[in-house]
Amino acid sequence: MLKRNFAGLISLGIVLLFSACAAAKDTEADMQTDSFYISEITDEIFSRIDGKSFKEECTLPRDDLRYLHVLHKDTEGNTLEGEMIVNRHIAEDVLAILKELYESGYPVEKIRLVDEYDADDELCMEDNNSSCFNFRFISHTGRISKHGLGLAVDLNTLYNPYTKLVDGVRIIEPVTGEPYLDRSAEFDYKIVKGDLCYDLFIEHGFVWGGEWPDRKDYQHFEIPDERIAGWYPDWQ
Ligand SMILES: [Zn+2]
Repeated sequence: MLKRNFAGLISLGIVLLFSACAAAKDTEADMQTDSFYISEITDEIFSRIDGKSFKEECTLPRDDLRYLHVLHKDTEGNTLEGEMIVNRHIAEDVLAILKELYESGYPVEKIRLVDEYDADDELCMEDNNSSCFNFRFISHTGRISKHGLGLAVDLNTLYNPYTKLVDGVRIIEPVTGEPYLDRSAEFDYKIVKGDLCYDLFIEHGFVWGGEWPDRKDYQHFEIPDERIAGWYPDWQ
C-alpha cells in the first residue's frame, strides 16, 4: 500500500514537473512573440519624440513611421527590452533582423529611442546605443538624411564608429570610438563583413557603411537610393 502510494506520488510529481516545464516553455514562447511587435506612432509614443527626433521642421509624415518593440541580448546573455522607431517600409525587415539577432544570441547592448539622449547623436553613440530614426537634413542641403527618413539603422555604435578624412583631418564619430578604428583588433560588438548582423541586413536589402571606399561607417546599414526613390520620388 505504502509502496503503491509512493509510486503514485512519484508519477504525480513527474506529471507536475512536465506541466511546469511546458508552462515555462509556453511563457517563454509567448514572451518572445509578445515582445516583438510593430505599432503605429500612438499619441503616447509621439509625446516622447515630439520636438526631439521628430523635430519641428520634420517633413516626414508621422504616419510613415513605426515603433518597434524588441528583445535583445548583451554580451553576458542577459535579455533586455528594446525600442526603435523606423520607416514603415522597413518595419517588418528590421523587426525580423532584430528577432533573429536575439534568438541567435548576437549581442546588441542598447536599443533605446534617441530621444532618451535628447536626440543627440554623439551622446547616443558614445553610450553604444543602437537606433534608426532621427530627423535631419544633410548638411547644407534640403535633402533629408536616411536616418531622417528612418531608413538607416546604426548598431552597437561605440564599437563601430564612423570615420572620414576631411582635408587631412580624421573625423571620428563618436569621438570616444577611436580605439575601435583598428578593425583587426578583437573586441565585443564588432561588426565584420560576413557575420550574422551583416548577413541579415544584406539579405533584407540594406548596404553596409563599412564597405564604402571614401569613408567608413561600421555601425551603419541603409536602404539604397534607388529603392528610396521608389517610395519618395521627390527625395533626390
Ligand atoms: Zn548611421
